[in-house]
Amino acid sequence: MDFELPGEDDPRRAAIRTWLSDHPRPGGRQLAEAGYVAPHWPAPWGLGADPVHQLIVDDELRRAGVSRPLNPIGIGWAGPTLLHAGSDAQKERYLLPMLAGEEMWCQLFSEPGAGSDLANLSTRAVRDGDVYVVNGQKIWTSFAHVAKFGILIARTDPEAPKHQGISYFICPMDLPGIEIRPIIEMTGLHTFNEVFFDDVRIPAENLVGEEHRGWALAKITLSNERVSLSTGGVLWGNGPTAFDLVDLVRKGGGVADPALRQRVASIFIEAEILRLIRLRTVSAAVQGKQPGPEASVRKALADEHGQHVMNLAKDLAGTAGMLATAGPLGQGDGSWNYGFLFSAALTVGGGTSEVQRNIVAERVLGLPHDIDIEAGKTWAETRR
Ligand SMILES: Cc1cc2nc3c(=O)[nH]c(=O)nc-3n(C[C@H](O)[C@H](O)[C@H](O)COP(=O)(O)OP(=O)(O)OC[C@H]3O[C@@H](n4cnc5c(N)ncnc54)[C@H](O)[C@@H]3O)c2cc1C
Repeated sequence: MDFELPGEDDPRRAAIRTWLSDHPRPGGRQLAEAGYVAPHWPAPWGLGADPVHQLIVDDELRRAGVSRPLNPIGIGWAGPTLLHAGSDAQKERYLLPMLAGEEMWCQLFSEPGAGSDLANLSTRAVRDGDVYVVNGQKIWTSFAHVAKFGILIARTDPEAPKHQGISYFICPMDLPGIEIRPIIEMTGLHTFNEVFFDDVRIPAENLVGEEHRGWALAKITLSNERVSLSTGGVLWGNGPTAFDLVDLVRKGGGVADPALRQRVASIFIEAEILRLIRLRTVSAAVQGKQPGPEASVRKALADEHGQHVMNLAKDLAGTAGMLATAGPLGQGDGSWNYGFLFSAALTVGGGTSEVQRNIVAERVLGLPHDIDIEAGKTWAETRR
């Protein structure tokens, strides 16, 4: 890693510490108004912080034990898209409550016939005076049942080629005609939903950007990633790390079985490689360099690494692994079992492993483009 965070006397650190001494237990709205929830956003919502400043804010909040409001889809995906293409009125209305965690957001993109090939979506939005009338179905919509708003992509011009004729909307989730049905995961939790639209009337002022130009915005939504130094757990940044599992093995006196021992060594090596790739990405961002191939490579490796760690944790538990409460080597409160069950989702959500490999193959290795069998064309041709 060829950068170091500025020291204790940095004026940006002093500014946050002063603020924290005036607000020792800040609420979501206070953090949002101070620009500390998404410091890389422009004022008045953020601080226009460069990567070093972002990392300083993260560092100071962590030291003070302050957590940011939770609104992952709003802050991570919807917000950056609204900043890019939203009207002044939309920014004014939605961004602050989003950052404060007062209004949860969900993402209404995937459909039964449109996942990896998202542009194949068939939910329709038809303009009728000052509203769009929406009909169709979305699926795998995380948090739809608790969200106040959703970012919705729907087809507004069915005659246009599939990547054109899509529009991007802000959808209030309490509109008449929206039905949300839970999908219970194999973890036993309810996070996803199916969402049905039956003549839902969305005000035309909720269109984001230009009509029929929503695909470009959907790509912005999907590509957002902020700089983070966190070591991150194996469940998309949450949960335990491989190093936690190795520590448990060490404290438990090691493992006698040579095949299991080999797997412990393998997850350690994978985790170390991922750590170095992450530091390379952060280092490039701090030096103002454009992101390289590391992000795609990292996602492709990290999702499978998460499954390796969780499968190993189960196997280390031996027959006790049949119990929901058992962790590796007998320890545990059920969180390893949850991680094991959830880890199947890692290689599907946010772009499947196969799709990640296609991206690495095409954009990093320069191999020929994948074929869109349905259209009889390469992806590159269909995206033009
Ligand atoms: C935990 C989780 C949370 C999610 N939350 C949301 C959400 O909030 N909102 C939302 O809109 N969606 C959400 N999704 C859905 C997610 O975006 C889709 O599951 C994902 O895009 C894959 O689409 P699919 O499930 O339709 O699979 P498909 O695209 O049908 O893929 C099926 C299989 O075919 C393979 N495949 C597809 N295309 C290719 C290709 N070109 N080359 C090689 N192999 C290919 C895939 O890799 C996969 O193995 C979530 C998913 C998960 C797991």
